Order: sequence, then C-alpha cells, then structure tokens
Amino acid sequence: MPPAHTPDLLEGLNEQQRAAATVVSGPLVILAGAGTGKTRVISHRVAYAAATGAADPKRMLVVTFTDKAATEMRSRLAALGLPQVQASTFHAAALRQLRHFWPLAHGAPLPRPLDSKIPLVAPLARQLPGGYRFTPAKDLTDEIEWAKNRRIGPAAYEARAADAGRVPPIPANLLATLYRRYEDAKERAGRIDFEDMLTRAVELYERDREAIGLVRRRYAWFSVDEYQDTNPLQEALLRLWVGDRRDLCVVGDPDQTIFTFTGASADYLNGFADHWTDARVVRLTTNYRSTPQVLALANRLITGKDLAAVASDGPEPQVVGHRSGEAELAAVVTSIRELVAGGLAVSEIAILVRTNAQLVPVEAALTRAGVPYTVRGMRFHARAEVRAARAALAAAGDDRPLTGAVVVRWRDALGFDPEVEPEAAAGPEARDRHAALSVLLAIAREMEFADRRATVAQFLAELDRRDAEERAADEAGTGVTLSTLHRAKGLEWDAVFLPMLEEGTLPIRQSLDDAAALAEERRLLYVGITRARRWLTLSWAASRITAKGRPTPARPSRFLAQLRPGGPAAHVRTAAPRPATGPTFDVGERVVHGRHGMGTVAAATRSSVSVRFDNGVVGSISPAALSREGEQPLDATATALLERLMAWRLERSRADDVPAYVVADNRTLAAVAAGRPTSEAELLAVPGIGPAKLDRYGEDLLRIVREAG
Ligand code: ATP
Ligand code: MG
Repeated sequence: MPPAHTPDLLEGLNEQQRAAATVVSGPLVILAGAGTGKTRVISHRVAYAAATGAADPKRMLVVTFTDKAATEMRSRLAALGLPQVQASTFHAAALRQLRHFWPLAHGAPLPRPLDSKIPLVAPLARQLPGGYRFTPAKDLTDEIEWAKNRRIGPAAYEARAADAGRVPPIPANLLATLYRRYEDAKERAGRIDFEDMLTRAVELYERDREAIGLVRRRYAWFSVDEYQDTNPLQEALLRLWVGDRRDLCVVGDPDQTIFTFTGASADYLNGFADHWTDARVVRLTTNYRSTPQVLALANRLITGKDLAAVASDGPEPQVVGHRSGEAELAAVVTSIRELVAGGLAVSEIAILVRTNAQLVPVEAALTRAGVPYTVRGMRFHARAEVRAARAALAAAGDDRPLTGAVVVRWRDALGFDPEVEPEAAAGPEARDRHAALSVLLAIAREMEFADRRATVAQFLAELDRRDAEERAADEAGTGVTLSTLHRAKGLEWDAVFLPMLEEGTLPIRQSLDDAAALAEERRLLYVGITRARRWLTLSWAASRITAKGRPTPARPSRFLAQLRPGGPAAHVRTAAPRPATGPTFDVGERVVHGRHGMGTVAAATRSSVSVRFDNGVVGSISPAALSREGEQPLDATATALLERLMAWRLERSRADDVPAYVVADNRTLAAVAAGRPTSEAELLAVPGIGPAKLDRYGEDLLRIVREAG
C-alpha cells in the first residue's frame, strides 16, 4: 500500500503504469510500445520516489533524448512539485559536469564547445585535392561524427570504416587525414565539439577517481527515456555515473530504434535484464494516444506488438497515391484547410518526412497556400545557405530581370546551378542546399510573373517579410509542425501527414540492399504512424519533377503494400477524399474546366460552384467537373504533351542560354498540356504566360500543341 499522502501522484495511471511508478529502487526496465505512457510514468515515478522518501530529488538525474523533451520533463516535474530535479540530455549533463570538474583536474577552464564543426572543417575541405574540395563540409562532418560516436579515432578510421561498409563522401584515406587535421585544428583553437562533451567526460571519469567519486555523490538515482537509442559513448557515461549502485530505470521501445547511424543500439535495452540480473521488467500494453484505426495500421507494419487502444473510434487512416508530387502537396494543403475549418488548431497538425531536403517543397507549398508552419529543428530562413543566398544579393543593383540577376549572383557566389541537381554521392547537405536555393528561386520567379519589373531589392524585402512571419509562427508555436521523422520522436499530434512514401525515399535509397538498414526504415515509418492521435494520411506520388525539370516515375514504398489490403497501387486517387463538410472550393481560387479552361471561383457550396471563366462565360458547375489550378489531372495524351513541352523547354533554354525555368515553369507547362490552347488569346489565359512570353514562345507552344493533335 502506498503511503497516505501519495495516491494523488498515481492518479491518472493504469495498473501496469502504477506497478512501474511504484518500483522506486533497484534496476527497472519499462519495455513498451508507442503511446503507452512510458514518458508519463517517468515523471510520476520521480514524484512517487520523492514523496515516499525513496530518493532525494536533488540527487536524481532524469535523462531525455532532446533538449525539448528535457524542458517538457522539467515543467511536468515542476507541476508535480519537484522543480529541483535535474532533467537533461546526456550531452547537457556531461557538459555541466565537465564545467565543474575540468578546472579541478586540469587547472584550466573547460575549452569552449563549438556550435558547429563546419567553420573548422570547411577550410580543410578546400585544401582537398581536385574536385573533392567542393564536397560540402556538412557531409564531411557527418562522417567524422559517425567515427566519434563509436570512439573511433583518425588512426583507426580507415580500417573500421571498411569493416562497417561505409561509403564516405571522399576516399577513406583522405577522410582519415582530414579527420586528424580537424582534431589538431580544434585542439589549437582550444575548443571541444559535441561528441567531445561525452568523450572527455568518459575519459575524465575513467582516469580520475576523485572526479567520479564526486559525481556519484551528487547523483544517486537515474532514469533514462528513449533508451533504445543509446549509443556506446552515452552508455559508457551512464555506467560510470551509476557505478556499482543500482538505482537505474530505463525506458524504451525496441521498435522505435531509429538512430543506429549515430551508433545507437537497442542491445542495451534488450540486454538490460541480463546485465542487471535482478532487474524488474514492466511491460505496458495499453496505448492512450491513438484511435483503434491508427493502431491497427501500426500493428500491421510491426507485428507481434498488438497494442490495445482506449481512444474512441476515429476515421480510417488514408493511404493515397497521387499522379504527381505537386498534386500530393496540394491534397495535403486541402486536407489541412478542411481540418482547420472543422475546428482543429493548426498546431495540432504535423507533416513528417524522411529527409531535410523533403521539407523544402513542403515549406514552399505551405508558403504558397498561406498556411503558417513551424519547422522543428532549423527554421528555413535561418539556414546557413538561405542567409548566404540573401547576403549574395545584398550588393549593388542590377537591371537584369529579377530571376536572371538572382541566378547569376548565386552562380558566382555560391556555385549554384538551378539546372544541375547534385548527384546522390554529393551527400545530403549538397542536396539540401540545392533544394533550399530552388525554393528561393521559385519565390523570385513568382514575383517576376506577378510583376515583370520586380527588383532584387523587392525580392529581398519579400524574403525579410517571410522571415519575420516564419519567426513569429515559430515563437508562438502556432503553425503546422514540419519535421523529419527522426525529430518527431516522443511527440504527438491530432493529425499527421506522412507524404512522399516512395521507394528510394522511405526506404531511403542507401538502405535498399541492406537488411538492417531496411528494418530501421520500417521502424521510422512506425514512429511516424504512431505520432498520430486521430487523423493519419500516408501518401506517395507516381511522378516527381526533379530540379532538372524532368518528371521521374516513382513507385510506392514497399511498406505501403502491407498496410492496405490489395496494395496501394490499386488505390491511386488524385486527391484525398473530402470530409462531408464545407465547400470544396474557396472563393477567389483559380480552377480549370475541361471546356472553358481557366476561371475564378465566385461562390461555392458543396454541390455547386459558380465560376467566372477567363473566356467570359459565367456559370454554375458541379465541383466534380472542376480541378484546382496546377492540380488538373492529366490524361495519357496530356502527359505525353507535357513531356514534349519539357523537352522543348530544355532545347530552348540551351539555345537561348537561359535557365529552363526562365522559359517556363512546370506549372505553366502543365497548364498548357491540360488546357491545349489553340490561339494566342487562350495561351495568354494560361497562368505564367504574359505578353513577353507570348511574344517569345507563343509560336513554339501553339505548334507543339497542334502537332500533339
Ligand atoms: P512514445 O513511445 O511515443 O514515446 P510513450 O510511451 O512515452 O510514447 P507518453 O507520451 O507518455 O507515451 O503517453 C502518450 C499519451 O497518452 C500522452 O498524451 C499521455 O498523456 C497519455 N497517457 C498515458 N497514460 C495515460 C493514462 N493512464 N491515462 C490517460 N492518458 C494517458
Ligand atoms: Mg515517450
């Protein structure tokens, strides 16, 4: 029986959770699936241990996976009356301890931590031979981090990388040299890096009995969340902290191991009860987060778990195929608008993707649609490449057309070529950079379409405005959350969108012929699915337009086949089904009709849309006969026509020596392919074609449409 003053601390916990929260001494492992209340139990267990006197709150250390989670844990503990309990990541705890012990052991203050390795690695990269000097510094630092997280030094790097089957961004011998030079440069600069925070602490405690004695006197009771993603350095530090004592509780879900690329391994979690032979093992089996429908989907992806739901029934999760990436994002935007119209707060919605580069087109689509968003991790306008791109434009004016001026300066200052998408081997950073600059360029292009005399100064002012808007949404936490799946760990939203689920994306290309990597990709999708409380949409697109302007066919992720009886290929739709509330089209929206072409919505209900067409016709039309601009479904003839138009654009851009998008952007070409204009007047009605374009390209375009029949 718990002491009389503690029952309220256990209120809101089920029986299994209570069993875990009341084991307040000795080794304990909580092994449980997503949303079962593991993180919730940690805070209640801390409170229970403090209230029963099992441990002194000042000597507790609660380890979380991210700083954000630490902040949340501290506020939960404060709400439970325990503001004095330390909650932090392994890194933050190690840094705090080093700040204290380093001066005692070395007679000098702790070297200052680097915010980033890039300033030290970039100059070293430029000294690499030949073309290697263009390797993005971020890809080199990623590889150095791979080694450091495993306690692999420069001397051992080549052999260990070969054993592990690594494909470094530059030859391994060059990387080993670069790694050594980086360590030397860091030493000379009197700095330490992120991994050093753990390494130095481990080294200090392994060597210095007095230091480890002091740390152990300070902390006596430990709790670690997300333990399935602990790496060897973190585990070494934890074991040093605990020593031969026994008050350690770890919490995790082996099916959510998604950081093995940092050296993390679920072995520590799975082997906990072997290492601590008298450990108590508690399993939680009730999921409090998601509807039975969401859970059923999760249970199909990772079997053998069979979490039970307590939430009431919700809508069936959607698995949707789209004709194109543009149509997919348009559908996401439409669904978000509908959810918000139905009363859901924007901040209760998340869009989760596999890589940073994929955030960029999503940001562009939301920006265009005027949907506020918050990027978890780095804000778009705060990224180094975006700031560099703006700085490159800040110099004196230019009387070339806006996009021309912008491209020339970015080409000179940043080596950016909008036509050349970086190769996969160039590394993720190179691709992110290209994608970010492409988004900025799309903004410039839209400004130029709206006003042919738009200037660089106006463009910069527009970027300032967007930057301020993004910062405001970010600070207020009021936008749709955009995040990679990795950063979404432990979090939850009412509505979750998981777009771009295609072979080569999730599972990511590098994992395709590696069973262990594929299993991790599956777990990533599992983490994504289990973030949703109620609404869940998984989608893919049959075609994506690359930066080179070519539509590239894509196949649905292999994981989807398993989620939907009959497989996703049988369910290609051009948009998610709409809930039965609200109008389908917004007033003022641009739409396309098979016979009348483009028009603007004047009024709309669920069953009828009144449209003022550009050809002068005004009429009421069934919503089923209309498509949104840029979203019009292309039949086989139109698709063939679009491909011909794209080929023409490439030739024409080469002949005129201008970037392809200056000739026409993809939306414009798609509108031409869908509308098949037969006269100059009809061509002028196509968005993106003004008098100047008509003058230059009208003849070509009409000829190509005519030839297509
Ligand atoms: P993950 O594996 O994703 O980290 P988790 O196991 O840590 O999930 P929590 O985040 O602690 O799960 O809980 C999931 C949700 O369920 C939270 O909103 C939490 O408040 C709620 N919850 C947990 N236990 C209960 C309970 N006994 N009664 C009501 N709500 C609960
Ligand atoms: Mg959790």
